[in-house]
Amino acid sequence: MSTFQAPKGTYDLIPPRSATFLAVRDAISTPVKNAGYGYIETPGFENVELFSRGVGESTDIVTKEMYTLTTKGNDYLALRPEGTASVLRAALQANLHKQGNLPVKLWYSGSYYRYERQQAGRYRHFSQVGAEAIGAEDPALDAELIILADQAYRTLGLRNFRILLNSLGDKECRPVYREALQTFLRGLDLDEETLRRAEINPLRVLDDKRADVQKQLVGAPVLTDYLCDACKTYHAEVRELLTAAGVAFEDDVKLVRGLDYYTRTTFEFVHGGLGSQSAVGGGGRYDGLSEMIGGPALPSVGWALGVDRTVLALEAEGIELDVPSATSVFAVPLGEEARRVLFGKITELRKAGVAADFSYGGKGLKGAMKDANRSGARYAVVAGERDLAEGVVQLKDMESGEQEPVALDALVEAVRAKLA
Ligand code: ATP
Ligand code: MG
Repeated sequence: MSTFQAPKGTYDLIPPRSATFLAVRDAISTPVKNAGYGYIETPGFENVELFSRGVGESTDIVTKEMYTLTTKGNDYLALRPEGTASVLRAALQANLHKQGNLPVKLWYSGSYYRYERQQAGRYRHFSQVGAEAIGAEDPALDAELIILADQAYRTLGLRNFRILLNSLGDKECRPVYREALQTFLRGLDLDEETLRRAEINPLRVLDDKRADVQKQLVGAPVLTDYLCDACKTYHAEVRELLTAAGVAFEDDVKLVRGLDYYTRTTFEFVHGGLGSQSAVGGGGRYDGLSEMIGGPALPSVGWALGVDRTVLALEAEGIELDVPSATSVFAVPLGEEARRVLFGKITELRKAGVAADFSYGGKGLKGAMKDANRSGARYAVVAGERDLAEGVVQLKDMESGEQEPVALDALVEAVRAKLA
């Protein structure tokens, strides 16, 4: 094993690609901030119980994918595999739901950990931006979240994605459907593990990616046919609001998603350029989650968008985000005195809000100009002893190559005027 090797299933974000990650997080969070969602940050680990109760004992996430550890103090913890359970736990702990302002709208951004088989677009450490609206049952809230995610992807320039939409019913109608599906599944030729899954969480079997399983599922009872009137009305309203907002979606009666806590609205954003890891984001309504983790009834809805896969989707569509060069001005000092004077000027420029950098390491003109080029700066400020004796620096336009002397005292203003 090489010493300089990140653990399996992980990778480092390094410049310049890392700038795209920041831009994606920004593009996703901007619309939610604009819609009244407040920022929340929770710990990178939680008690395992939160996830086993919240995400669900029968899910892959809990049975196979969690990184768990026992601390020296005998706490049984898990690195967070997802964000919703933590956010709800934190909201309950802070009594955010008791302040008469439901729904509580929160957004987050962070790292998540799942012990999965590494594939393109599937990692053991990945990054999500999520949004949750806690404590209100209102189809407009479900629609709002889908519209905001759609807006985020469109702002980034993505076009080759689709929105899949389904309703999973509620505690009235889902058990009836569950029963019918189970009866159907018991009559199929399935392997032992899948049969066991059919007993614990039959809806998950619909999500099975294997072709031979999918073939047998043709003719399986469809949840849509079992929805109670309240769920039907709710779902129709979500669909109408999306249509009115001009957001195109496709009904997908087999969309169940990998977490147990979803009720009613579920959705997934899938991208056409990502191969089998096609989901760039997903979410839905989780009306029962609060009670599952020991809280009061708090119907809620949310989504999590995968930053890594969104970046891959941008690359698949050949979209280069307009990430401006980090540096506008680069200082090239020639000699000791110039070093001190220009370092002072760089500090002044930065205070004035101009992105500025400096050639460190006492390089000569050639090496320092190479640094200036590499920085992508629009202007270089060059000064040697003779310039300083005259009270000037040379301001060089790195695009045209033109150079002019500027009085030291006037430098900050001159640069600001040129950049404006
Ligand atoms: P998948 O079906 O691909 O396993 P999921 O249903 O497990 O996805 P969610 O739990 O809904 O995913 O997480 C939301 C988003 O987070 C996904 O749509 C995806 O973009 C991203 N994501 C989930 N797991 C990973 C992973 N292991 N590596 C990279 N991104 C991931
Ligand atoms: Mg998964």
